[in-house]
Amino acid sequence: MALSEFEIIDRFFTRGSASRDDVVIGVGDDAAQVRVPEGHDVLVDVSTAGGDDTADTDPASLGHRSLALALARLAARGGRPAWLTIALTRPLADERWLEAFSSAMTALADRHGVQLVGGDTTRGPARLTLHLHALARAGEILSPGGARVDDLIYVTGALGDGALAVLERSGELALPARDREPVLNRARLPEPPVREGLALRALASSAMVLAGGVAAALRAPLSDGGLGATIQVQRLPLSDSARRSFERAGGWSLALHSEEPCALAFTVAPRRRGELEQRFAELGLRCSRIGTVEQRPGLRLLLDDGSEYSGRSLG
Ligand code: ADP
Ligand code: MG
Repeated sequence: MALSEFEIIDRFFTRGSASRDDVVIGVGDDAAQVRVPEGHDVLVDVSTAGGDDTADTDPASLGHRSLALALARLAARGGRPAWLTIALTRPLADERWLEAFSSAMTALADRHGVQLVGGDTTRGPARLTLHLHALARAGEILSPGGARVDDLIYVTGALGDGALAVLERSGELALPARDREPVLNRARLPEPPVREGLALRALASSAMVLAGGVAAALRAPLSDGGLGATIQVQRLPLSDSARRSFERAGGWSLALHSEEPCALAFTVAPRRRGELEQRFAELGLRCSRIGTVEQRPGLRLLLDDGSEYSGRSLG
């Protein structure tokens, strides 16, 4: 049965996400209207996904993951997520696809207080574009570029599952039975570090997502500022699954290069270390101190015995 654009919007995109007081006009009207609270700036993340196989065969993952990654990027800016728009182009109005996609996305939106306020639904080669908006007080906004010499470097959560999922999917590594499903599920439906980002407001000197892994995430913003860092490789927090497949999956380079788009790296001035660690502990959030920002450019990777980690050389 062919659904009209109106029926698709009504059935899949009108309900489910949060209902916010600051939305004056949401889905259904020509243009959405939202109210920005006094003293706040709006942060906007735009992302597009094309019609690759994953997108077509796993609509729940596409819906959840694309919003989760956007939530993570705005968390790295210290934003409180607020409003979402979706531009969705599909070759066919496939009800089961739309149901799985929209319910995964709206459930995640609802959990983080995000309201879907509008979009566009059209027919054509598969494509998805999200605009996610977050609110932040101007003085509390984070960026990747604010690190100073002697700042302490932290990461949130645990690392390694991103790389394990890639290795498992490509057939390069067979994970133990107990890890296979959990690792693949966390890659399909990652949890964005929204609470972590909010906890870092007005406290971290810089923050960034680990979309390309810890080493890559730190290198660019530090070198832009003419700075470098020492990373104590053995302090990198490993997921339980990564610990169990540690040797077979490449040792510490697993933690250094695993793509973790829903984890953050951040820096904090040393005098604020206590405040930071207490805040995370009180909120039941995990963070690990992994190194220090230094004057000398480049990333130095050290093992606990002081020797250099010789996994992969880094600029
Ligand atoms: P218009 O004629 O103004 O382009 P549409 O008929 O495209 O409006 O859409 C009607 C309403 O539904 C608008 O408020 C629009 O923002 C919203 N909308 C359309 N597609 C989506 C979608 N996929 N998700 C959420 N809202 C949507
Ligand atoms: Mg339209």
